[in-house]
Formats: sequence, C-alpha cells, structure tokens
Amino acid sequence: AKAKGKGCYQVFESRMHEELLDRLDSESRLRDAVHRGELRLHVQPVVDLAGGGVAGMEALVRWADPERGLQQPGAFIPLAEETGLIAEIDRWVLFEACRAAADWPDTWVSVNLSAATLDLPDLTDRVAYALSTTGLSPRRLVLELTETVLMRDVTVTSARLEELRELGVRIAIDDFGTGYSSLGYLRDIPVDVLKVDRSFIDGLAGNARQQQLVSAVIQLGHTLGLKVVTEGVETADQLRLLTRMGARYAQGYHLGRPGPVEEQGQLSTNTATV
Ligand code: C2E
Ligand code: CA
Ligand code: CA
Ligand code: CA
Repeated sequence: AKAKGKGCYQVFESRMHEELLDRLDSESRLRDAVHRGELRLHVQPVVDLAGGGVAGMEALVRWADPERGLQQPGAFIPLAEETGLIAEIDRWVLFEACRAAADWPDTWVSVNLSAATLDLPDLTDRVAYALSTTGLSPRRLVLELTETVLMRDVTVTSARLEELRELGVRIAIDDFGTGYSSLGYLRDIPVDVLKVDRSFIDGLAGNARQQQLVSAVIQLGHTLGLKVVTEGVETADQLRLLTRMGARYAQGYHLGRPGPVEEQGQLSTNTATV
C-alpha cells in the first residue's frame, strides 16, 4: 500500500509539473503574441431598436495562436489578468478599435477595460493618444467597465472616470446586475451607458417576474438619462419583449455575431433590417 501511495504521489507530482510547464509556455507565448501581431480585433454590433440600424460596435479581442488556432477571450484573458499582460492587450485593442471606428460613418465603438488597465497611471494619456492619432471623435468612444472593477474603491474610481470623461469619452457599466450593490454605482459613479447583463435576458420569454425586473431596470436607466443596452439577445421573442418594454439598444447573436473587424460592413447590412 505504501509503494502504491508513493507511485500515486509521483504521478500527481509529474502532472503538476506538466501543468506548470504548460502554463509557463502559454504565458511566454501570450507575452509574445502582442509583438508578433497575433491579436485580432473582432466586433459585434449594438443595434438601435428605434432606428433599426447599427448604433455601435463592441470590440472583442481574439488571439490567433499559431499552435492552437483562434482563441476566445475566455481562454487567455484570465491568464493575461494574472500576469499583468492584460494592460498591453487592452492598449492594443483600444488603439485598433479607435483606428477602425475612425473610418465608420458615425457608429460608436466600445472597448473593454480590465481592472489593471483602469489602474494604469497613464490610462488617460493613452486614451488621448489613441484619439488624437486616429482622429476619432471622443464622443464615439465608450469604455466598458464591469461592476466588479468599479466596486473596488468608489472614490478612486470616480476620480479616474471623471478624468476620462473630461476627454469627452463615455463610460459604460458592463454586465449590470451581476454585482451585489448595483444601485450604489448609479448614485456614486459617473456613467453614461448601462449594459444589462445577458443573464437577465436569458429565459426572459417564459418569466413574467423577470420581465418586470428588466422593464424596471430599463426605465431606471432612462430616468437617469443613461443609454441602456440589453446584452445577449438570442431570440426573436426576446427582441419583441424588449422592444415592447421600450429598450432602445440591443446586442446579441440574434442581431449579429462578433466577427473580424474587416468584415464589419457585412455585419451592418445583416442587421439593418431589424
Ligand atoms: P463581455 O464584455 O460581456 O462581452 C460580451 C460577450 O458575450 C462576448 O464574448 C460575446 O461574444 C458574447 N455574446 C454576445 N452576444 C451573445 C449572445 O447572444 N449569447 C451569448 N451566449 N453570448 C453572447 P467573448 O467575445 O467571448 O468575450 C468574453 C469576455 O471577455 C467579454 O465579456 C469581456 O469581459 C472579455 N473581453 C473581450 N475582449 C476584451 C478586451 O479587449 N479586453 C478585456 N479586458 N476584456 C475583454
Ligand atoms: Ca463588454
Ligand atoms: Ca457584458
Ligand atoms: Ca461579461
């Protein structure tokens, strides 16, 4: 029994060793990804339900890993956040998104920022640089921050966001409703856009109580003068319900899937008939 136990331990140890090597390998390859030009910019349309056209585009990063193929953010953002590489990824996405949007007629572009990026002392300079270099009007740039990021220190966060808003850019609360004190932000933090998390849209059609809740959140946002975007709209039923509730902006597979930024013209025509 003793010998067997030791064998198990060795197997366990070597597996840990393998996982560690694998992680170090991913980390160094991710570190090089930015410099090697392996990041890709995908965008997903945000549709204006009143006008029927595309009002904005959300920038979503992908990694064209030469070894494993095109990677979704879920496969590398956590590692990027742990290692601090995220700040460099966010910087790349910010710049590329501004550059792409500068060529569009008047759609806004929204960019996701992680906690580490919001904490960069030179974030405001970076944003100003991206805007001036690409010529994108600040009004057309939206910075998306999740509730989890915003909830860390309200005083520090508010000051930082005010600094960014002075440039003329807009701030969105992403995944709204998933944090535990959502209403606190609306009181304390200067924001312009509220993105209702897709967990509230999922199952909407069969749940009257959820419909009342979502409807109330939309009205609340409008009362506060915010733009409200409902995320994760996957069905025609959800879209009908949201339209009836007075939702103005929506995003989701039913309206348009994320795709390479080079094909964004196609995305706009696909969704123009909503
Ligand atoms: P998010 O900011 O909430 O972005 C929306 C995610 O929902 C995207 O996943 C999008 O593809 C997906 N989605 C859109 N419509 C639907 C729908 O109808 N149904 C479902 N089930 N999903 C839908 P994606 O591209 O895999 O990104 C996942 C997360 O990774 C993002 O969530 C965001 O938190 C993060 N992320 C993506 N790009 C960046 C980036 O450049 N920087 C940072 N810091 N985070 C990023
Ligand atoms: Ca987002
Ligand atoms: Ca979201
Ligand atoms: Ca999310």
